[in-house]
Amino acid sequence: MYPEVGLTTVYRQVRHLEKTGRLHAVDTGDDALRYENTPEPHAHLICPRTDTVVDIPLTVLFNENAIPPEFEAESIDIRIFGKWRGQN
Ligand SMILES: [Zn+2]
Repeated sequence: MYPEVGLTTVYRQVRHLEKTGRLHAVDTGDDALRYENTPEPHAHLICPRTDTVVDIPLTVLFNENAIPPEFEAESIDIRIFGKWRGQN
């Protein structure tokens, strides 16, 4: 980070990016939020032991046709917690 940029400025910019939808907070269950700018809806595989978070496309997890056409999904949050045994 540039030494001349204050933390308040950074936090303000992060909030602005989040409000405008260009940055999304990911709650991984620990004390800190992570941010990402992945545009496509997806689920997260989370391993608290190794601090690993992996994006998984929703099309892999469920059939989108399972949502009735009368229901308009506005957001989705799927977090799968487990033990990561691969390489980071
Ligand atoms: Zn993600």
